[in-house]
Amino acid sequence: PIYLDNNATTPMDPRVLEAMLPYFVEKFGNAASRNHSFGWVAEEAVDYAREQVAKLIGADAKEIIFTSGATEANNLALKGVFEMYASKGNHIITCTTEHKAVLDACKHIEKMGGQVTYLEVKSDGLIDLGELENAITDKTVLISIMYGNNEIGVIQPVREISAIARKHGVLFFTDGTQAVGKVPVDVIADGIDLMSFSGHKMYGPKGVGVLYVRRKNPRVKVTAQMDGGGHERGMRSGTLNVPGIVGLGKACELCMNEMESEGTRLSAMRDRLEAALMQVEEAYVNGNREHRLPHTTNISFKYVEGEGLMMGFNKNIALSSGSACTSASLEPSYVLKALGLGDDLAHSSLRFGLGRFTTDEQIDFTINAITTSVLKLREMSPLWEM
Ligand code: PLP
Repeated sequence: PIYLDNNATTPMDPRVLEAMLPYFVEKFGNAASRNHSFGWVAEEAVDYAREQVAKLIGADAKEIIFTSGATEANNLALKGVFEMYASKGNHIITCTTEHKAVLDACKHIEKMGGQVTYLEVKSDGLIDLGELENAITDKTVLISIMYGNNEIGVIQPVREISAIARKHGVLFFTDGTQAVGKVPVDVIADGIDLMSFSGHKMYGPKGVGVLYVRRKNPRVKVTAQMDGGGHERGMRSGTLNVPGIVGLGKACELCMNEMESEGTRLSAMRDRLEAALMQVEEAYVNGNREHRLPHTTNISFKYVEGEGLMMGFNKNIALSSGSACTSASLEPSYVLKALGLGDDLAHSSLRFGLGRFTTDEQIDFTINAITTSVLKLREMSPLWEM
């Protein structure tokens, strides 16, 4: 089958696996074992990976905190800042189209006595900068706005957001999970204070991720959410996942070297796919098409149900639908609803996530299969009248 669900997870690049393999059996040491060479070898590998990761985002190696993934990094950023800066204030600003790992961490913070403002987005998925600035109070400690959206690919105006944050002395955290490795992200130029991302969205392994925590101008700290041996400068205890970290480092290096050409290749393929599918009547692209990740498009085909549509081809093509439920409920995507889409259009959406191993032939096949399925389903639909 053709894999077009790279926003959910990416296959691991074989070059990443190759880098990881020695660290399972042969070089198995604990990176915190300071008394012997087994530990030193592991520590050296982690140090090297930390450099590779830092380089990709323009950070210093000391600013990289390894976690189990972006979910954990998001929790650490939000809860960690909320706790660390409690004496300054208890207010956080985020937006309604964030990943659940941000929204649910914010809900938790509300239960702990925090106040959270959930900014709505415009119909193109972007936040309104004026609304953001108006939401800031003297109790605001953090703005949490994602870099690129996982469902629609929309890229938020990160530099403008960070400028507003800075002007008001508020920290800026961004969930970079979908953007890092896909588009140029530079924590200094972008004015980012904290940023999460994840190995398995960038051709690295699952179960490893990063929280970038700025150390200069300003020096940022987060309260640990995992207490123990004091690893990761006390911000995240637990024996380091050495093979995973080595893999993430390699994945970052590959993205660094290949991002530019890959971005061009993927956006050309994505645009071709999109243009062909827009030939279908009553097909709509969801979200801003200009400020967008190069490999993502989200399209609603009116009068057909996404889940039903997928049944027509899901043996051959793997992708996601806005009606595919994250939980057991059949609720349509809250991200699409936040753009103002009705239930019908939200339910009739498909998310295409292209990736490093997507080929032109696969795109040709997909265009054909989807066009055929939509037309066939509409013929059978009482809602569709010619
Ligand atoms: N944030 C965003 C924007 C995501 O797309 C994902 C992945 O689903 C996550 C966070 C969670 O990442 P992880 O699977 O590493 O916990």
